[in-house]
Amino acid sequence: MRSPKEYKESLKRMRPNVYKFGELIEDVTTHPATRRTVEGHAKLFWAAMSERWGELFSKESSLIGERVSRYLTLIKTPEDMVANCRMKRAAFNLTGTCTGGRCVGWNAINAMWATAYEMARDGVEWGEEYSRRLMEWLIWAQKEDITLSGALTDPKGDRTKGPGGQKDPLSYLKIVEKDDEGITVRGAKIMIAGVAAANYIFVLPGRGMREGEEDYAVSFVVPRDEEGITCVEARHPSDLREMEEGWDNPVERGGITQSYVLFDDVRIPWERVFMAGEVKYSGRAVMNFIRMYRASIGGCVAGQGDLMAASSVLIARANGLQEKAFRAELAKMVVNNETTFAVGVAASLLGEQHPSGIWLPSTLLSNVNKVHVGTLPYETKRLAQEIAGGIAETGCMPSFKDLQDERYGELLRRYLSGATDPEIRIKLARFIEWLTVGGGIPGTMHGGGSPGGARMMLLRSYPMGEYIERVRELLELDRLPGEDE
Ligand SMILES: Cc1cc2nc3c(=O)[nH]c(=O)nc-3n(C[C@H](O)[C@H](O)[C@H](O)COP(=O)(O)OP(=O)(O)OC[C@H]3O[C@@H](n4cnc5c(N)ncnc54)[C@H](O)[C@@H]3O)c2cc1C
Repeated sequence: MRSPKEYKESLKRMRPNVYKFGELIEDVTTHPATRRTVEGHAKLFWAAMSERWGELFSKESSLIGERVSRYLTLIKTPEDMVANCRMKRAAFNLTGTCTGGRCVGWNAINAMWATAYEMARDGVEWGEEYSRRLMEWLIWAQKEDITLSGALTDPKGDRTKGPGGQKDPLSYLKIVEKDDEGITVRGAKIMIAGVAAANYIFVLPGRGMREGEEDYAVSFVVPRDEEGITCVEARHPSDLREMEEGWDNPVERGGITQSYVLFDDVRIPWERVFMAGEVKYSGRAVMNFIRMYRASIGGCVAGQGDLMAASSVLIARANGLQEKAFRAELAKMVVNNETTFAVGVAASLLGEQHPSGIWLPSTLLSNVNKVHVGTLPYETKRLAQEIAGGIAETGCMPSFKDLQDERYGELLRRYLSGATDPEIRIKLARFIEWLTVGGGIPGTMHGGGSPGGARMMLLRSYPMGEYIERVRELLELDRLPGEDE
């Protein structure tokens, strides 16, 4: 497995192709706009080698029989899925926010493993070939310990239409050429987490495609710095603070970024293509992805919620109060954290073995969790702000620079001291601001898909008909409303 240093060196060796504010970032490991997300991902490499976290962040590979990063393993048992939930919680605990440059790619590997198996099983022309390629590539990836982000294809255009019905034919990533060596793709992936910190991108379909949309049913893996790929970093709250000195951006070794990835006629050799036109299986790939992702994301938000609860306790103390003044609020925060975590664990345990060997969590509970994940953390953020006071709610404090000013800095610090050293109180308030309205927000509402889609899916998998029969029996009804007389 790579050390954090080796991981950063691998990023330094890549062709610079990440931009922000119109500037090409020559070295993502040192540039202020990207270095924190790199540091966050580097922490995962540290964790995999540490005594405290090693067992959780690494696992013996079922393919090569050696210990490898868990982020590159096949999820084959309920225990593997529970470890996924636990590891994501720990990753948020360790970095303060999302490290999506590894986990989405991991999920994509497993989703496509199951989908490629289905294609092979059903006798699809290239099915067995897709499975073989994915296995060989994964063995290589495990040995190299690459960082792999994941992209469900975008940008979607008119949401009511598939790729075939769009005005712009590049509303979804498209195969524009196929030849003996491979495929050429054009289009974009917008809003992808942690790409600046990734070595490779795993692409898979973003929705079920129909006949006639074969050019959009595509899955492959590509180096992030491949010729023709340009990444433009998205803005996020307070991102100019990342360029400044001091604690206004409170976390030095963690942060998340998102990119818009532009594919301008990018060549992908067949050895790294896992779907190219099999529309019937594009929806399966998405479904397989969703089941795993929406279960484990409950661990992510619980992990950030842990930090919100703990920093709320600390700022209450810094304000001269005791946490018992906020017992109800803290209890609610803990309930929220444990709810998303527990529903994710339950979804993991109540899943089923896919014939490919992959363990797929319960569709119903994964989608229930996605709705909680799009709801409960917002309540937790509100409570953290309520406990902390106005200095955290909007970060209502002068800048680090003003607090150092020779003319008035000392006075400002004096009036910000509360019941403790002002620097500690200010840092805690900035941290709560960062977690609740600032750059630490991971995107829990839409990451992994919108709650609206999850509601639709959970209603589809809920056995409502069975429960209606229970009501019929209990009330001894001859007919139900809507049934013909
Ligand atoms: C911080 C962040 C990180 C992300 N990271 C990644 C990543 O690493 N990899 C990746 O692949 N993606 C990533 N995404 C993208 C994410 O998966 C999408 O944001 C998500 O799928 C929702 O899509 P959307 O944003 O286009 O919203 P939309 O699809 O536009 O949805 C907006 C609203 O419209 C509703 N809606 C949409 N379509 C319909 C319809 N046909 N009928 C009725 N209602 C509809 C939705 O339910 C939702 O309420 C990330 C997003 C964010 C914000």
